Amino acid sequence: MSSRNFEELSCHVGHDVEVVRYQQGGHIYNIAIECNDCGTVLLDFDNPKNAYQHLQTKMKLHLEGEKN
Ligand SMILES: [Zn+2]
Repeated sequence: MSSRNFEELSCHVGHDVEVVRYQQGGHIYNIAIECNDCGTVLLDFDNPKNAYQHLQTKMKLHLEGEKN
């Protein structure tokens, strides 16, 4: 559950809040602000390059498939 308003965010005043990155290989696909005390994600963003990376992988697989 994320915090989208004053009341929800004010619950986390004084808590241990951390910015966390999620990555696979060398690609960071998501960044999140998380409350460690509550174990919840306050705010998170997907990397806008995720779709592009996915497309690149698909194209690479396609090209490798054509070689055989
Ligand atoms: Zn909290």
